[in-house]
Amino acid sequence: MKKINVTIWNEFRHEKENPAVREIYPDGIHTALKNGLAADDLEIRCAWLDQPGNGLPPEILENTDVLIWWGHRAHHEVDDETVKNVHDRILAGMGLIVLHSGHFAKIFQRCTGTSCTLKWREAGERTILWNLAPDHPITRGIGDYFELAHEEMYGEKFDIPEDGKVIFASWFEGGNVFRSGVTFERGRGRIFYFQPGHETYRNYYDRNVLLVIGNAIRWAAPELIQAPQAPGYPPLHEINQL
Ligand code: ZN
Repeated sequence: MKKINVTIWNEFRHEKENPAVREIYPDGIHTALKNGLAADDLEIRCAWLDQPGNGLPPEILENTDVLIWWGHRAHHEVDDETVKNVHDRILAGMGLIVLHSGHFAKIFQRCTGTSCTLKWREAGERTILWNLAPDHPITRGIGDYFELAHEEMYGEKFDIPEDGKVIFASWFEGGNVFRSGVTFERGRGRIFYFQPGHETYRNYYDRNVLLVIGNAIRWAAPELIQAPQAPGYPPLHEINQL
């Protein structure tokens, strides 16, 4: 069985600087995800911002089928060259799963072409994620909905392009609603944005959250990774010019 090469990229700053976050994710959000997603068909490695090349030098990207992205306060520290290399790899076929505050990551804004702004409120409120695409591979094993006891509110309007296919829509206890799971296709690459995962809540240990991310990995895994070509092209038949 050919394994899917997954790279979990984490900014990895909150866990080092905030004891409340470190208590929940002592080895980083990436490690919690790696442990929770472990499966025979996945080869998972982790990378983070403060490593050389932002953790994503060419030799890592060239061995990545699906990239998972968690960032928040240091989006601007990701080099433009890294963003370009990741973008090129997506257009060639690599999958991208953008989590939570990654909505403001340079790479997600580049892929969507929009500001990705939204409303937010950190009040630990209850949320229900409604499954709007029960036949989609990303929702396999998820029923009509699932709940999280505490999550940061992200609310509409979420400034993303209209070609996004909405997989989940969330209701928050304080009244807001949000397109909390959305897919895009860019070049050969498949992209999934998924809302849960604020750093002070425990939602990357949640069974349903992990199930959705795992499903998204398999959905986004490419059959083929090949950079788009722009060849000069010979005519099929002789062209008779007058
Ligand atoms: Zn957050």
